[in-house]
Amino acid sequence: MHGPTTCTLRLLLLAILCYLAATPLEAQWTKAVGFDENDMALDLAEALSFQKYPTYYQYQEMMEGFALAYPDICRLDTIGSTVQGRYLLALKISDQMDEDEDEADFLYTSSMHGNEIVGYVLLLRLADTLLSGYGHDAEITELVDNLQIWINPLANPDGSFSNDNNLSLELAQRHNIHGIDLNRNFPAITRGEADDTTGRELETRNMMLFHRDQEIVLSANIHSGTEVVNYPWDDRSSLHADDDWYRFISREYADEAMAVDPDYMWGWPDDGITNGWAWYEAIGTRQDYVNNYLGGREVTLELSDEYLLPSAELEQHWNINQRSLLNYMSQCLYGIRGKITDLESSNPLQARIHVENHDSAYSVVYSSATHGDYYRLIKEGVYKLVASAPGYYNDTILNVEVTDYQATFLDVQLKAWPNKVPEQEAFDFRIYPNPAVHTFMVEPANIPYGELELSVHSLDGRMIFKKTVPYHGGIIEFSTKQMRSGIYLLRCSNGKLSRIQRLMVINP
Ligand SMILES: [Zn+2]
Repeated sequence: MHGPTTCTLRLLLLAILCYLAATPLEAQWTKAVGFDENDMALDLAEALSFQKYPTYYQYQEMMEGFALAYPDICRLDTIGSTVQGRYLLALKISDQMDEDEDEADFLYTSSMHGNEIVGYVLLLRLADTLLSGYGHDAEITELVDNLQIWINPLANPDGSFSNDNNLSLELAQRHNIHGIDLNRNFPAITRGEADDTTGRELETRNMMLFHRDQEIVLSANIHSGTEVVNYPWDDRSSLHADDDWYRFISREYADEAMAVDPDYMWGWPDDGITNGWAWYEAIGTRQDYVNNYLGGREVTLELSDEYLLPSAELEQHWNINQRSLLNYMSQCLYGIRGKITDLESSNPLQARIHVENHDSAYSVVYSSATHGDYYRLIKEGVYKLVASAPGYYNDTILNVEVTDYQATFLDVQLKAWPNKVPEQEAFDFRIYPNPAVHTFMVEPANIPYGELELSVHSLDGRMIFKKTVPYHGGIIEFSTKQMRSGIYLLRCSNGKLSRIQRLMVINP
C-alpha cells in the first residue's frame, strides 16, 4: 500500500503510528488477524490449487514445474538474488523461447512489499492460465505469440519469508531484510539522482538492471493495502505526457474488475483509479523510475485491502482480477510500433522516436539496438513522429493515426549522412520546443557521456544562468521561469567541445 486517501485517514494513520511507536518493534509485524498457518498450502498439490499460499519451497517447485511442463513456451529465469541469497525468480513465457525476438517485453511483478501477498498467488495462477491456455484460447495464444512475458510473483522473498523457515508468511514484513522499503529505493529525478545502482539494495539493483536489459515496454507492480490502480507520477504534481493513456488503461483495469464485483476498488474519487501524487507523494518508487529513466510504462496495482489476505479470499480476488490482468497485457500490443533501419543496409538502428507536441523529456522511446523494434503505447489520436539517430538525417512522419485497441505499424528507414563527419563538427544539440513556453528540452548528440555545462546568455552576452549536469545520453529539461520573453543564446559544452544555438522564449 502507499498511504491514506484523505486528511481524516492521515490523522488516523498518525494515531496508529503513535500507537506503534509506543509498542515494541516486533509487535508491528506479529500475526495478522485472520491469517495463520492454515492459510499455507500443506503440499505442492494444494499449492497448485491456488486456494492456499505456497511455502517458499513449494513456490520454487511450482516455478520449476511450469518450465518443465511447458518447455516450448516457458523458461525459468532469475532477476538476481536477494540479500539473504534467495532468488528473484521470473518465468519467461513466449513462443520462441531461446531467442530474443523482435517483440515487446511485458513484466508482472508482485510483493516487493513482502507482506502484500495477494499478487504472489494471482501471478502464479496467471502463469498457469497462460501456459495451459496456449494453443487453446485465442486471446492467450495471441499474447504468448506476440509478447515476451515475464512473471515475477515474489519480488522481496526475504521480506515475505522473514520468519526464516521458508514455510509461512505469517510474519511477512514490508521491507527487505535491511529494513529498507524497496518501493522508495529507486533513483528519483526529484532527488536529482542519476540512473545509477550504486548504494542501492541488492533487490533494487537487480530489478533496475533486469528492467534495462530486457527493455520492458509495459509492466505492473502489484501491492496490497487498498484496492486501486495507481498511475504516475508519485513524486510530482505535473502530469505524465501520456496521462490520457494512463487514465485509459487504468480505467479499463478498474472497470473490468468492478464489473465482476461493484464493491471492489470502491470509494475512490475517480472510481478505482488514482494519480499517484493526487493520492500522496512518494519518492523513489519503481513506477516513477521506470517512467523517468527507462522510457518504460508502469502502474502500481493495489489488489487487496488486507495485507495478508486470508487464503479463503484468493479465489474471489482471482475472479475479480483475471480479466483485467489479461486486458492490461493486451495493451502492450497496441499503439505505434515498427522497426527503424538503415536505408542502405537495412541494419537495425537504435533510434529515438519523438512524438512532436506531445512528448516530454521522459516519455520518448527508443528502438532496440538488436532488432530496431520500437513500441510507442499512446492514446487514440493523430500524431507527428520524428525518428532520429546519431549520424543519420531525421525523418518526420506526419499524420500517424492511432486507434484504441489497435496497433499502428510504422517502419522507418533513416538515411545516413554522406560522409563520416569529424567529431568536432558532429557534436550538436537540439532545442525543443523552440520557441519555448514554460520549459524546453536540450538533446545533445554525438557527445561522450560525462559532465555537460549548459549556459543561457542574453543577446548582449550577459549570462542568465548556468547549470552543470551529468549526461548519460538522455534529454535535459529546463524551466523558463528565470527568463523573460525574448531571444537567447544557449551554450552547451563538455569542456572540450562547445556549440551555441538560439532559443526563443515566450513567457505568457
Ligand atoms: Zn505496497
